[in-house]
Amino acid sequence: MFDLIIRNANLPDGRSGVDIGIEGGRIADVAATIEAAAHGEIDATGRLVSPPFVDPHFHMDATLSLGLPRLNRSGTLLEGIALWGELRPTLTREAVVERALSYCDLAVAQGLLHIRSHVDTSDPRLVTVEALLEVRDRVAPYIDLQLVAFPQDGYYRSPGAVEALNRALDMGVDVVGGIPHFERTMSDGAASVEALCRIAAERGLPVDMHCDETDDPMSRHIETLAKETIRFGLQGRVAGSHLTSMHSMDNYYVSKLIPLMAEAAINVIPNPLINIMLQGRHDTYPKRRGLTRVRELMEAGLNVSFGHDCVMDPWYSMGSADMLEVGHMAIHVAQMAGIEDRKKIFDALTVNSARTMGIEGYGLDRGCNADLIILEARDPLEALRLKPSRLAVIRRGKIIARTPARVSELMLDGRPRLVDGSDYAPVLSADAE
Ligand SMILES: [Zn+2]
Repeated sequence: MFDLIIRNANLPDGRSGVDIGIEGGRIADVAATIEAAAHGEIDATGRLVSPPFVDPHFHMDATLSLGLPRLNRSGTLLEGIALWGELRPTLTREAVVERALSYCDLAVAQGLLHIRSHVDTSDPRLVTVEALLEVRDRVAPYIDLQLVAFPQDGYYRSPGAVEALNRALDMGVDVVGGIPHFERTMSDGAASVEALCRIAAERGLPVDMHCDETDDPMSRHIETLAKETIRFGLQGRVAGSHLTSMHSMDNYYVSKLIPLMAEAAINVIPNPLINIMLQGRHDTYPKRRGLTRVRELMEAGLNVSFGHDCVMDPWYSMGSADMLEVGHMAIHVAQMAGIEDRKKIFDALTVNSARTMGIEGYGLDRGCNADLIILEARDPLEALRLKPSRLAVIRRGKIIARTPARVSELMLDGRPRLVDGSDYAPVLSADAE
């Protein structure tokens, strides 16, 4: 007797007609047909059942603060940082907690159940750290929230940042952050990478740095980050977020850089929505895209996962907590429209990000946590195309969110009465693939 059985599901790896049996909050069986009974059953015929979405790069201390104290007029990264600098001294713990909890409601509704958020440690009051530690505890029953100590104003550039970052880690922040390209000189940036990797090694923590988030083809911090990763034995535990400079770097140099990153097993976290919005701002035409070299990094075997980064904050006025929106943008900007390409993009929103965050018990295998989403789509390609309803979001075997199917009613003579977008994709023959 299972607690719950999901019947006849399509899985992201292409299997269809699969039953998933859940017991005690874990996946107890995955088989073509489960004969046993269950206290509850869900018919998922023709629907994609996936592990939940994972966002490995977010700023939950700033989310939903759009318009405070005013809007970003230039739309640039630097005005965003300046605006945040104006807002930060006025933040209260209560307001940050309330906005973060609201965002988490939105995330659950979208099937996003694992989030790594940077938390700004630049204000010596550390209000943002206190607030997000509280949020981490409060959302723990439904979202795994991982926090990164992020010296937004620069580790060496801003007085007091070194001490504040250590204090944040003492308070229980999970990951060491950094922003080497925002230090005053290239050598200060390199020194910050070395110092922060040393702290991570000493404390046994992962690293996740905003790294080379510029259009400067000469920015070299990812090279330093890879080198220090190897030196401190942190392979596989270090993430380079953004890496937009790689878009503009010399090709010969990149041919030497990517193998170094692979040797260091750097987790690469591009943020397609934010990168396409903020990069290339000094260009006239042609205007660079600024997204890092996603295809080349994947082909070299690096673990690439996409972040949402911002939702309605000083840097980005849009966003919806929907990782499929992030993947949709990635397909376009990275020009990865092939069938295998799009499958890789879906992985970058799920399994790859779970690996970046070191999430245990993630996936659809027997013994994994029964954390699942049922989408109003047949497969990952359709999910990316339609960004469809999350019909059910399941955490540890219990349904925690439901959304109705998106079905429209037509009043047209001679045409169908109901339109469900998920019925409209032509079925491709094996030859077409
Ligand atoms: Zn960021």
